[in-house]
Amino acid sequence: METRICEVDPLENNESLFAEAAEILKQGGLVALPTETVYGLGADALNPEAVVHVFEAKSRPRFDPLIVHLASARELEQVAVVPDELSATVQRLAAEFWPGPFTMVLPKAVAIPDVVTGGLNTVAVRVSAHPVMKSVIKALGHPIAAPSANRFGRISPTCASAVMKELGGRIPLILDAGACTEGLESTIVQPMVDDKGKAGIRILRQGPVTREQFRNVVKIIRPKPTPKTEDNKLLTPPIVPGQLASHYAPGKKVILKDKNETFVPDNEELDYGLLSFEGTSTLAESYDWTSVYTLSPGNGRLAEAAVRLFAVMRQMDEDEDIDVIVAECLPETGIGAAMMDRLRRASADRT
Ligand code: AMP
Ligand code: MG
Repeated sequence: METRICEVDPLENNESLFAEAAEILKQGGLVALPTETVYGLGADALNPEAVVHVFEAKSRPRFDPLIVHLASARELEQVAVVPDELSATVQRLAAEFWPGPFTMVLPKAVAIPDVVTGGLNTVAVRVSAHPVMKSVIKALGHPIAAPSANRFGRISPTCASAVMKELGGRIPLILDAGACTEGLESTIVQPMVDDKGKAGIRILRQGPVTREQFRNVVKIIRPKPTPKTEDNKLLTPPIVPGQLASHYAPGKKVILKDKNETFVPDNEELDYGLLSFEGTSTLAESYDWTSVYTLSPGNGRLAEAAVRLFAVMRQMDEDEDIDVIVAECLPETGIGAAMMDRLRRASADRT
């Protein structure tokens, strides 16, 4: 299949392009399209056969559910059933963080096919602030199921050319609206009541909306410790979708190091590249790196680093002079917590 990249010009009227994208979706096809976080691979969320194609194109296991995108929070009841005890919390979160890089997991409505949710009775819902996502949903007249537009387990794409590298030949159309402004996948929370019956949220995936931002809006309910057997062994925790240890991973080995450490290679034969926050650190100066890639050169700005993280990881993956990526730990405040979550998964053992 030939994959076309069509540029969306924000100064032009793009209605015919959006209508074309909607037509492909109506026929059960797939379209890659931008959100403010990363590029998504969209299908008509109410068409189970179309959604199956998403799993096939991404080589994604069926148990890993998709996020359903709405044009506005007013459409929430089409896809989710909000229980009375969570209604005020959900409304507060929607008012505060939608449209935006924020996803809520809620009990699903019957209209949502099981294949979207991997058989779960909950559905992940988001209202993106990106005008292209919004326009295509409106043109289709249905919500769009859209996970990140990469092959399973790999780095999420933050520009159209990265989508092309991941899914070129597997999908007919990529809508190109330039680089994503957030660069990290949405924050995912599940509204729930705690042991005392008080409503709040559990954070399922860290992202651009930070723990600090939630604190002012809702109660954060901590996960229960993993249960133990009688002889004090940890029971295997249930598989939480998208919480796989190895995820968001480049093809090359990734090693995480503290910025105050000195680096000693395990294998002198290999070429090591450094992924540094500011470019200056004990770690950066402790070794003769084949190359140093810097996320926020000289500035140490976490927001700048977040926008660039996946693009720089891709560049390092493609750099033929590097065998191993050594990533410097980032400060775990604000968006830094989500970046460290992704770096830990990128460096996790894949066996
Ligand atoms: P992606 O859009 O590729 O980042 O993937 C969507 C992610 O949303 C999944 O990997 C899960 O982590 C999460 N998700 C989607 N639906 C649910 C759900 N019903 N319960 C928990 N997490 C979900
Ligand atoms: Mg993904």
